[in-house]
Amino acid sequence: MTLFSDMLEGYSRFRDSDWKEERERWEILGEGQSPKVMVIACSDSRVDPTQIFDTRPGEIFVVRNVAALVPPFETTPGLHGVSAALEFAVQVLKVEEILVMGHGLCGGCQAALNKSLEGAPLGEGGFVANWISLLDEAQSHVAAHYGTHGAEAERAMEKAAVK
Ligand SMILES: [Zn+2]
Repeated sequence: MTLFSDMLEGYSRFRDSDWKEERERWEILGEGQSPKVMVIACSDSRVDPTQIFDTRPGEIFVVRNVAALVPPFETTPGLHGVSAALEFAVQVLKVEEILVMGHGLCGGCQAALNKSLEGAPLGEGGFVANWISLLDEAQSHVAAHYGTHGAEAERAMEKAAVK
């Protein structure tokens, strides 16, 4: 298990190895970034897009959240983090492709499927419940065909979430 103190040691190792070996690359990246792909991925600690796609710093622009969701376009005042990231990637960075990366054993998708957090108070699952309610329409289709429990239903929900 990695604690913050372990991460500080990791940072020291990084500064002594990769950072030094790729000094030229970091200097170029210091002038700006120009990734060609944006990845929208889940916050799940097991699915790091930079590791999975074997990319180097500066190559992909990533936004991560529970279940890798993109909320609907809204013009109401608010804190639209995903919209801000999309806007920056498309308008400023001019990414050429946007990839939504789902994954197996997604807890967010599972909770959306079986509605296990429905009605939970904020701070006790309620924020997640509200967020994954974005999947309610997809959930109704999946539940009608596969039910709300089991590996087949979960896999279908994970695929539907990406769509
Ligand atoms: Zn997930």
